[in-house]
Amino acid sequence: MNQVDYHPMWADLGLNLDTHDQLLAVLGKVYQDFFLSQPNRPKGMDYFNFVMSEVHGLRIKELIDARAAGRKVIGSFCLYVPEELILAVDGISVGLCAGAEFGTAKAEMFLPRTTCALIKSFFGFILEKVCPYIAASDMIVGENTCDGKKKSYEQFRKLVPNFFGMDLPQTKSDEGRNLLRSEYVRFARALESLSGRTITVDSLSQAIETVNAKRQAIHRLARLRSADPAPISGLDALLINQIYFYDDPIRFTQSVNALCDELEQRIAAGNGVFPKGHPRILVSGCPMAIPNWKLPWIVEQNGAVIVGEESCVGERGTRNLTSAHGDSIETLFDNLVDRYSRIDCAIFTPNSERIDHVDSMSSAYRADGVIHYALQFCTPYQMEAFQVEKTLEEQKLPVLRIDTDYSMEDVEPLRTRVEAFIERIRS
Ligand code: SF4
Ligand code: SF4
Repeated sequence: MNQVDYHPMWADLGLNLDTHDQLLAVLGKVYQDFFLSQPNRPKGMDYFNFVMSEVHGLRIKELIDARAAGRKVIGSFCLYVPEELILAVDGISVGLCAGAEFGTAKAEMFLPRTTCALIKSFFGFILEKVCPYIAASDMIVGENTCDGKKKSYEQFRKLVPNFFGMDLPQTKSDEGRNLLRSEYVRFARALESLSGRTITVDSLSQAIETVNAKRQAIHRLARLRSADPAPISGLDALLINQIYFYDDPIRFTQSVNALCDELEQRIAAGNGVFPKGHPRILVSGCPMAIPNWKLPWIVEQNGAVIVGEESCVGERGTRNLTSAHGDSIETLFDNLVDRYSRIDCAIFTPNSERIDHVDSMSSAYRADGVIHYALQFCTPYQMEAFQVEKTLEEQKLPVLRIDTDYSMEDVEPLRTRVEAFIERIRS
């Protein structure tokens, strides 16, 4: 953990220091119990441990220093917000975490109790003044995806200084594509106006290459997880996918590639984090933002390893590159729309590509079973869970459907269900 006292910096950002200290204390304890206690972790995880130890410290200082140098920080909540456009104006993209049960009582003064934990979490963070990323952002982007987010932003936008609402289509039709394109153009204009920079063919191509390199590093990591024994735990792989949204993209890419070099050596030596033949699980469903580690922790504590995440914090978010080819801004925008309109989020209808993707990931990573993970009150993913289950079970791939939230109250019943599922896989 860090030695520098960041309290003056947090005070300048307007955080509530007492409440923020409580949050960090909980986070530090959970990180110790869930991550640092894992046996035989790759050495390359040291970098990600360091990032986590400084997630509210050094990284925030970097953002503040960058702002002082004239760069802009853009916070966002969703995969459909193109990082490429933010980098093209020399901005910094940060994912706003919404993975902790914090400030729920205050959040429920704005939201019905029957709202998903993710939405309640980002309301709780801002109302309790504990998120330095929100405080350090020059613009916060909220997208019209599910009804919960769409309606909650009507309140949320009043709580932050520079909110940009992005409309998103609900279908992959030509009309939907046109809407996505026009919203990306509108977002680009807003970024140009905020930063005072113009997006050029060169700046956008370079940004596309940078984000592609980051995605390629993650693809490499994903492929290595198909090895048996698994060279890295699912918890650690999830953590890397979570840090993907916060870290400097070039430094992150280098660190993931360095880790992958090490994992290749581990695989060649037959060195895994669990024994060969350990039951292998694919997790599919709602995003798991930092510090939402409950389910992977339960799974890996109870006799299985997670080998892939079909999730926004996982392969749904990172697969498919954006073509950097094109000698006009119009072509590069088309390339962005091509790439982003392939994301198979459950807010789209129909969304059969997602089920195909779960299926292909199960084969590619040699999963023995799939756990469908949905947050309570998340209608899109809870609805799709039935189709995922039916399709995979017909192919004799066992599926466990779990609906949960961020509290730790259901750990024991979840443990019992996961244990029974792993037993089913073993038999
Ligand atoms: S689940 Fe859909 S709406 Fe939510 S972050 Fe992912 S892509 Fe965006
Ligand atoms: S988890 Fe579901 S309900 Fe919650 S914000 Fe995402 S799509 Fe919406």
